[in-house]
Amino acid sequence: MIDADALRETFRSRYGREARLFRAPGRVNLIGEHTDYNDGFVLPMAIDRETVAAAAPRADRRVRVCALDLGEEAEFDLDRPGAPRRGRWLDYVEGVAQSLAGRGVRLGGADLAVTSSVPPGSGLSSSAALEISVGLALATVSDKEVPRVELALAGQEAEHVWVGAMVGIMDQFVSALAERGHALLIDCRSLAYSLVPLDTSETAVVVCDTNVRHELASSEYNARRAECERGVEILRGVLPKIAALRDVSVGELERYETLLPEPVRRRCRHVVNENERTLAAAAALRRRDLWEVGRLMDRSHRSLRDDYEVSCHELDVLVEIAGNFGGAMGARMTGGGFGGSTVNLVRRDAVDEFRETVSSEYNRATGRRASVLVSEPGDGAGEILD
Ligand code: ADP
Ligand code: MG
Repeated sequence: MIDADALRETFRSRYGREARLFRAPGRVNLIGEHTDYNDGFVLPMAIDRETVAAAAPRADRRVRVCALDLGEEAEFDLDRPGAPRRGRWLDYVEGVAQSLAGRGVRLGGADLAVTSSVPPGSGLSSSAALEISVGLALATVSDKEVPRVELALAGQEAEHVWVGAMVGIMDQFVSALAERGHALLIDCRSLAYSLVPLDTSETAVVVCDTNVRHELASSEYNARRAECERGVEILRGVLPKIAALRDVSVGELERYETLLPEPVRRRCRHVVNENERTLAAAAALRRRDLWEVGRLMDRSHRSLRDDYEVSCHELDVLVEIAGNFGGAMGARMTGGGFGGSTVNLVRRDAVDEFRETVSSEYNRATGRRASVLVSEPGDGAGEILD
């Protein structure tokens, strides 16, 4: 957790004024991977790691921002947007400000200082936590109330236009809208969502970071998107009404999959089945059947590894360690793949042993260290009061 008093004090000594504090969490996706850009379903939860933006309004139209974790400061003018895609953290900050402005939110200038406990690049979406905390801070100190879905869309637009990452809506959405004790089932087409109670009294959500990031991630991501689009084009020959893989049922895919060339066939098989698994997992959660959720997670991982081919050796090692551990109910890679983290459901009374087993066996198999994080499903973005 971020020390709010220390942040207030840092802000005071840097800018000579009092700040209001706004937080937004990172997230982990329980199931529903590579479905968001196929208009499908995802089931993420907010984790108890967060980014906090301290903010105070200014009389002019400038935004001054200090990235405390990096020891860097930058500035921009709301009326004279800088160049997008400079390849720095400022792209996220100015991006969300300009995206909100483009949506008719009349922002005023502000001084900002941000700090985070979400590790960047671990697949826990530090970028969404940054966008949503800053977006909420800028809007609120400008006396503007922005609907949460709008805030999430502005964060996504910042990634698309300012960062150049063609991400789905999941990360920003859950960071803005999550609620404590729940996962969030999101329909990425309609943006309809429902809160699904996630009872962690006997089962812990454990995130294990491989601490590797393979270069392939972004080029392969774009390749997968193109392969899915190709699948839709071909399937439209026999299913003229479909607009995305979301519209194809498991039965329809089984009937027509021979029309698809490889690897498009396997890519489509993953997405169509993953959507069904995600809805099944939400239903199982509602019944408190965590073992069933775990089985669905295991299947999701196999599908991501074999059909979608976005896993990597280190992720597979972590999932296999969990698979051999009696108290683990399910495990899968989470996030885009090619490194990043796994998400595991582990019996609460076996968590300490799980942590030790993962640490030693992962190190033995790969020579690397895994980071293990146990998280409760937390609240989405909000102001830190008092
Ligand atoms: P992630 O999976 O963590 O979202 P991304 O590559 O999408 O990985 O986003 C990480 C980037 O977000 C960092 O390189 C940095 O530019 C920005 N970022 C995240 N957290 C912070 C922070 N606390 N301060 C400054 N920039 C940050
Ligand atoms: Mg990100």
